[in-house]
Amino acid sequence: MQIESNSVVTLHYTLTDNEGEVIDQSEDDSFLYLHGAMNIIPGLENALTGKSAGDEFTVKVSPEEGYGEKDPERIQVVPKKMFDNMDEIKQGVQFHAQDPDGNQVVVTVVEVQDEAVVIDGNHALAGVELNFSVKVVDVRAASEEEISHGHVHGEHGHQH
Ligand code: ZN
Repeated sequence: MQIESNSVVTLHYTLTDNEGEVIDQSEDDSFLYLHGAMNIIPGLENALTGKSAGDEFTVKVSPEEGYGEKDPERIQVVPKKMFDNMDEIKQGVQFHAQDPDGNQVVVTVVEVQDEAVVIDGNHALAGVELNFSVKVVDVRAASEEEISHGHVHGEHGHQH
């Protein structure tokens, strides 16, 4: 069957940046998702529509269809004393914070200065072109329960 809304899709994928560095890849056959439920980035989901088990393809996903462009407003300089309760504050350290809309975001320390710290609340892959190499392993229809929950159940999927 072809991938359409409410298909449960099993796939292999490898994600690389434009330099060919592997950013992420599926483990074994275990990446499953519910198609049409916005569980994966739009650029990859759109490319999978209409594909069938056994199909292999590559797709380049722009930041707009991926994790978005880098938002300069999410890069901030804050007083170093805000980090007094952290053990170690250095470049590359990540922590969780709330953005102005109340969403949980991962913030990365970009630079530590004498009195201030530069932090970046953008997604690590914001502004990055994503190159997916994909093999569709299996396609099946979702159950009513999966459709109502908006995610996959069962082996390798979401457990209750
Ligand atoms: Zn569920």
